[in-house]
Amino acid sequence: MSCIFCKIVNGEIPSTPVFQDESVYAFADINPKAPVHILVAPKEHIVSIDDAGTQDEALLGHLLAVTAQIARAKGLTGGYRVVTNVGEDGGQTVDHLHLHLLGGRPMTWPPG
Ligand code: AMP
Ligand code: ZN
Repeated sequence: MSCIFCKIVNGEIPSTPVFQDESVYAFADINPKAPVHILVAPKEHIVSIDDAGTQDEALLGHLLAVTAQIARAKGLTGGYRVVTNVGEDGGQTVDHLHLHLLGGRPMTWPPG
């Protein structure tokens, strides 16, 4: 398996951990786009939400709940943004499902 995020999850590639439990690993984005930029990924390899099935619904909900918990722990009381890029048009560059948690500055809309 050559997936970079699978390698991060299993420790083959170093990362800065933020949170983990049995199904989720959260770590600092290596190229942060905001003062807080954390990636929240399932430990299991799923390419994107487009690849997730009905059996993954609890995991998808858990990813969102964990993301909100991390945002609270990081003190993002003014708000934050959660993004998941899907495929080429979505700007996805790593084909292992992850939520971006972005915060610590005002976000603009629409995104690029
Ligand atoms: P996306 O473009 O939505 O697929 O997001 C991929 C994210 O992974 C980008 O924000 C990258 O900066 C980040 N990234 C790539 N390689 C690493 C790495 N080794 N450690 C942490 N973040 C990474
Ligand atoms: Zn993977």
